[in-house]
Amino acid sequence: MMEKKQEMIQQRRDAGSIATHFPEVSSIDMNMTYNQKGTRSILRTFHFTPSSYAFFIVNCLRKDCVDGGFDLTKVITAMIKNRRVEVKGALSCKVTDSSTSHSDIVYEVAIQYA
Ligand SMILES: [Zn+2]
Repeated sequence: MMEKKQEMIQQRRDAGSIATHFPEVSSIDMNMTYNQKGTRSILRTFHFTPSSYAFFIVNCLRKDCVDGGFDLTKVITAMIKNRRVEVKGALSCKVTDSSTSHSDIVYEVAIQYA
């Protein structure tokens, strides 16, 4: 049993890199402006290389926010599928809707293909 579980963890880890999921991608840059009610906007940038984990969920910076964040997985997988190099958009923290939104991001994603 233990071995099986460890094997699964190992497999997930092995399958986790961008190179494994998206061998055609040579780099991904995410730039975003993080806006939270009552605070100054923060510029956040993320750079991914083929050896980075293919994990595109950005945390919410609000201290009392549990399980929040911004999931760019769909955005990025759709871009790669359509071989798009640049996409802009906006997302609210995933635990809120637009009426209760406590934070949001305005993002730009740029992908380079090998
Ligand atoms: Zn949040």
